[in-house]
Amino acid sequence: MTPTGRFAPSPTGPLHLGSLVAAVGSWLFARREGGRWLVRMEDLDTPRVIAGSADEILRALERYGLTWDGEVVHQSQRIALYDDALATLRAKNLVYDCGCSRADLARTASAPLGREAVYPGTCRDGLPAGRVARAVRFRTPHEVIGFDDMIRGRVEEDVAAETGDFVVRRADGVYAYQLAVVVDDAAQNITQVVRGADLLTSTARQIALQRALGLPTPSYAHLPLVVNADGSKLGKRDGALPLPSLDEKRVRETLQFALRFLGIDVALDAPARMLEEARSADYADGRR
Ligand code: GLU
Repeated sequence: MTPTGRFAPSPTGPLHLGSLVAAVGSWLFARREGGRWLVRMEDLDTPRVIAGSADEILRALERYGLTWDGEVVHQSQRIALYDDALATLRAKNLVYDCGCSRADLARTASAPLGREAVYPGTCRDGLPAGRVARAVRFRTPHEVIGFDDMIRGRVEEDVAAETGDFVVRRADGVYAYQLAVVVDDAAQNITQVVRGADLLTSTARQIALQRALGLPTPSYAHLPLVVNADGSKLGKRDGALPLPSLDEKRVRETLQFALRFLGIDVALDAPARMLEEARSADYADGRR
C-alpha cells in the first residue's frame, strides 16, 4: 500500500505555529517515502468552526509549499460514513445511550491528574429511570492497548481505567472527533498518523474503536508540541512571545522555525529549496 499521511486541521481559526509544525512533520514523513499526503478538514464541531478559516488554512499550506494530493475532504460532508460506523457498533452492542448531563458527570466522575474525568459507567447497563438519552458512549474494553509510536516508543493505556466509556456522538448530535477520525483514517487508507503530542492520549481510544470496527491501525508519530515560554499551550497570548508569526511576508523564517523545531537544522534559504527538491523527486519518479 502507498504510504499515506494526512493533515487534519479543525477550521476553528487560521493555521498557527503548532499546526504548521504538525503539517510540516506529517508532510515530510509521507514525502520522504514518496508517499501521498492528504488534507482533511475536521469541521464537525459546527459551533466552533469559523467561516473562511478552512480556505485560509489551505492558502497558508500553499504558501509553505506543502502540496497535498487529491481533493480536500470535509468531515461535515461525510456524516453518512459515521452513521454507518455507529450502526455497526450498535449492532455489536458496543455503544449505548447515556443520559448523564455535565452536572451529573461533575458530581460522579473522578478525574486523574491532568486528564478528563473517567466516566463512572452510570448508563452502561441501561438508562436509569427518569433519564433521557443524550450522548452515545463506546463500551470500552477492559484491556491495555499499546502501540509503538515512531517518536516516543512504546505507549500503553488502559482505556477503561484511564478514560472510561467515551462519547462517540455528543448530546447535540455531533459525531465526536474520536469516531470520525477513525472512520476517515481508514476510509482514506491512511497508513501513518503524524500529529501533535496533545493527541497522544487519544490514540488508545482510536485503536480501541478501530478494533471494534474491524479497521486497520495505522502507524503513529506524535510530534513535540510548540508551547509558550511558560510551558502553556499556544493560545491568545502568543503575540507576546518570541515565536515567529505566520505573517505572509515571513514564510521562510517560519518554515525554518518549524523545521528546526523538528530537529532539522536548515539555513534560511533552505526550507523552500528542500521542499522543492522533495517535490521534484516525486515528479521525477513518476509518482505524481
Ligand atoms: N483535528 C484535530 C486537531 O486539529 C487533529 C486530528 C488528528 O490529527 O488526528 O487538533
